[in-house]
Amino acid sequence: MAKILEKPVSVLKNILDVILPPVCYVCGISCSSKYGLCDGCLGKIRRIPQPSCPACGRHPAENGLLCGECASKKYYIERAWSCCYYENVIKECVHLFKYNGYLGLVDIFNDIMTAFIAENGIDKNIDLVIPVPLFGTKKRERTYNHSEVLARAVAKRLAVPVDTKNLRKIKWTQSQSELTKEKRMRNIKEAFVAVDNNAFFGKNVLIVDDVYTTGATVNECARVLLKAKANKVFSITLARGI
Ligand SMILES: [Zn+2]
Ligand SMILES: [Zn+2]
Repeated sequence: MAKILEKPVSVLKNILDVILPPVCYVCGISCSSKYGLCDGCLGKIRRIPQPSCPACGRHPAENGLLCGECASKKYYIERAWSCCYYENVIKECVHLFKYNGYLGLVDIFNDIMTAFIAENGIDKNIDLVIPVPLFGTKKRERTYNHSEVLARAVAKRLAVPVDTKNLRKIKWTQSQSELTKEKRMRNIKEAFVAVDNNAFFGKNVLIVDDVYTTGATVNECARVLLKAKANKVFSITLARGI
């Protein structure tokens, strides 16, 4: 059946491309890239040089040492990786993906994250992938959890299961981007619970999210997962604030 449908679908796509030529999601110029982004926009995505600080994933740091900013803080996360800087094109793409339903952008996000995973040997010791959960009403508003879309792509690349049920967000929280650093910690505290502790017992868990700002969200998730007897908790985010 798939073979029979393949041809009509590609013919239809060609006709549509003539009537409505594809344009770049971000700048709107004509483009036929598989990602829906023109070469100019793709070229503006800056990867974060590695190795980076294990806690914030932002500042360069050698031999697993914490950067000056992180050295005095308590982190539950074993290692926080971010693939690129949260600026211009990626910022616009995350916004389109998260709030405007441009799910086609998952292909470029997936390729950026899986290339990063391969280059940095992250695939070695992960048993389970989990997305940062959304509170119930927020998920209903958006109809999907953007972190879950990314987590499924990452889990597929790592060939490990993704668990979307056993870490739950139990309270509504204000958007972290609207708050100061101190308020972010208070806002997110006790926002998550482990539903079934056995799901995490002895496992190395990788949390997946779109953006890392202060790390308050992934660290609170990690605190709950370690309380549920996870062995180690790591995180990977597509982008992080500069
Ligand atoms: Zn463009
Ligand atoms: Zn750091």
